[in-house]
Amino acid sequence: MAIKIYNTYSRQKEEYTPLHPDVTGFYTCGPTVYDYFHIGNARAFIVFDMIRRYFIYRGYRVRYVMNLTDIDDKIIKRANEQGVDSAEIAEKYAAAFFEDIQKLGIRPADVYPRATDHIEEIQALIAKLIEKGVAYESGGDVFYDVAKFPAYASLSGKNLDQLQSGARIAVDERKHNPLDFVLWKAAKPGEPKWPSPWGEGRPGWHIECSAMSMRYLGETFDIHAGGQDLIFPHHENEIAQSSAATGKEFARYWLHNGFLDIRGEKMSKSLGNFITVRELTKQYSAAVVRLFFMQKHYRSPVDFTEEGLQAARASSRRLTEAWRKITAAAGDALPLASADEAGAAKAFVETVFRLQRDIQTAMDDDFNTPAAVGKLFDLVREANRFIDSGVSSEEERRAVATVLAHMEGYDSFLGVIDHSAGDVDSERVGKVLDTILHLRSQLRQEKNFALADRIRDELAASGVIIEDSPEGPKWRWKN
Ligand SMILES: [Zn+2]
Repeated sequence: MAIKIYNTYSRQKEEYTPLHPDVTGFYTCGPTVYDYFHIGNARAFIVFDMIRRYFIYRGYRVRYVMNLTDIDDKIIKRANEQGVDSAEIAEKYAAAFFEDIQKLGIRPADVYPRATDHIEEIQALIAKLIEKGVAYESGGDVFYDVAKFPAYASLSGKNLDQLQSGARIAVDERKHNPLDFVLWKAAKPGEPKWPSPWGEGRPGWHIECSAMSMRYLGETFDIHAGGQDLIFPHHENEIAQSSAATGKEFARYWLHNGFLDIRGEKMSKSLGNFITVRELTKQYSAAVVRLFFMQKHYRSPVDFTEEGLQAARASSRRLTEAWRKITAAAGDALPLASADEAGAAKAFVETVFRLQRDIQTAMDDDFNTPAAVGKLFDLVREANRFIDSGVSSEEERRAVATVLAHMEGYDSFLGVIDHSAGDVDSERVGKVLDTILHLRSQLRQEKNFALADRIRDELAASGVIIEDSPEGPKWRWKN
């Protein structure tokens, strides 16, 4: 069965077929690097990371490109406020972006093109649009002539007449049509600028994504993704620019993730509910944040609450604990390829394979992660029951190893198991044991040997061996 994707352009689910059988080209709009990114951005980055990795899980090779907008009004404004160069602001927040996506367990893109490294490609694209008569220069600015692109607004399905009357409120003498948008901005004093055939200036935002996506993925490529707020005008304009320049279809599948609210309100700095990933990841691990998002379908709206995160934390812990228990029970056994090899564990292994089919069916249906996560918990419940009833034969161990292999497979795209949690916990256990040993030494100094020995024996029963050495007592796990 093929993966079905809801394509914003056609407004329906379509079976996915790559343009080139050997590689899927995937472009997603990246951050404008003027500040730490917030959890609304994080949702887009996480869900498209999941989708990319699900394609890989299903055997596709994916070329994943995410741009960095490193020249923009917001960056210039921030630089002027701080009295520094705009490149310095961009560099600082680009570095912060890479740190933060790592904390969210996001796999790095294959390419992170930056707008300022692609001025040449951007200018070539603008020149082509002027040559084709769909863009015009006006006093050092270059605009796209929306009236020359009949398919304009077909992605968003917006009504052009309504848009025009809305846009007419702010009349701009330089434009032919109020909806025309800027491709090249003439330099203003104190702004970064590059020489161009239309005078010194800098690129507009929309043209950057057209130029960089086509540079790395070709004139027509498979998937273009971003937040719903980018459908109009950003993605609409990208289509107009790219298709008018090449005469070809631009991106074949358009994916958009749903909005995010904070306790039912829009997130904004003025409401004081603005949450950066930098703050969030001080308290919550990647697995917890990811599970929170995976429990909602990527196109649905999400209400971000502390309670929701706490619940995700408890759920992620359950998964992680189960994963550890399953890992221990599987030992070095190899997974089974089918239930027929499972002997007495056949019924259990059949359930494991049925759940695998269910998870794949859910994921193939436009990446239904809430359903997949539900089935993952079913798997964990079944595995716990099976292990608790005793695992002794090689077939039973192999049955458990099968569960483990499947879980690792699902987590390769969900990222909801905290593989590092074991280290944190053993660190905690170590501190507790050090405290106990310290108290036991005091008991010995007070010649309370009976109680000190009892502590040693009880710890031994729990698998902790205490050895008294000249440097003081030490503990180790019983093998
Ligand atoms: Zn973009």
